[in-house]
Amino acid sequence: MKLQVDGNDIKTDENGIFKITGKSTPNAIISIDQPAKKVTADAEGKFELEGQIPSEKSHEVKILAQKDSLEELEKSLTITPHDEYVQKVLAKKEQEEKEIRAKAEAVQTADSLIAKAKASLNPTDLAKARTYINENQYLAIQGYSAQLTQINDAITAKQDQIAQDKAKKAAEAKKAEEDRKQAERKPSSGNTVPSQGNKQQPPAPDKNQQTVLITATGSKYHVRKCGNGTYYTATLAEAKSKNLSPCSKCY
Ligand SMILES: [Zn+2]
Repeated sequence: MKLQVDGNDIKTDENGIFKITGKSTPNAIISIDQPAKKVTADAEGKFELEGQIPSEKSHEVKILAQKDSLEELEKSLTITPHDEYVQKVLAKKEQEEKEIRAKAEAVQTADSLIAKAKASLNPTDLAKARTYINENQYLAIQGYSAQLTQINDAITAKQDQIAQDKAKKAAEAKKAEEDRKQAERKPSSGNTVPSQGNKQQPPAPDKNQQTVLITATGSKYHVRKCGNGTYYTATLAEAKSKNLSPCSKCY
């Protein structure tokens, strides 16, 4: 069995492709392990093996010659990458790492924008997150659509709640205003509408704040409805300010 290889140090081309040529026993099977390749030597024993080295580093390859029952022969060869190939592989690796970092950053930014929108339930924050994800080359909006929809639903629910609360407060305020007008309705100042927002004062212990009954034309104030006519409530002070005097029947 014979195995001769042309040249001891084999160099790849700029694409990392190597070619091993040599001579062995006619019709022997010639194989290498990494990358796995196999050829049959011709009738003169000539062979040619081609492959690409697995990395940008020098590569040790084992070449094996076999034929029927003859003893196998093995040789080791060093394959050296072309400088240009080394540069290409390194540049590609660097580019890949750069993209991995950029993608990780994009994911992180998208996550924080989503978290912000989720916390604030502000439509502007949600729009920011959506735009960022849409415009980023490393992100696919599909991967985020469930989260974005969920936040959008929460914003809608919150806005509905605010509208409901507002309507409820408006109704309460309207009712309070009507109650107050009802309480303050007086014959002598029928058209006077106190300015809005005036809180009703708690009843003062002052005797003048006592409620009495008066009529539109009478000169007396009363404790109770006292004879015919329409009676209105007024404070004692108001009654006095109109120069009304206590009814002799009531007092
Ligand atoms: Zn009276």
